[in-house]
Amino acid sequence: MASSPQREAFQVPASISAAAIGQVTTKSLGVKYNCAQCAASFSLGKNDAIRCKECGHRVIYKARTRRMVQFEAR
Ligand SMILES: [Zn+2]
Repeated sequence: MASSPQREAFQVPASISAAAIGQVTTKSLGVKYNCAQCAASFSLGKNDAIRCKECGHRVIYKARTRRMVQFEAR
């Protein structure tokens, strides 16, 4: 609930498949992660368990979004 200094609108790139997005049931998207096992991309909220939604693997990486890269570039 911390108010970030910059509010950015979340935009889903067209490259992400609609099927992957359809599996996200929560309204508020959390942080995006990539599974270390099957490389599936998904987002987890604060109430979600830290594990892959595809294979259940518990080692996942936080995905770097294009948005974050832009912040660093500036
Ligand atoms: Zn997985």
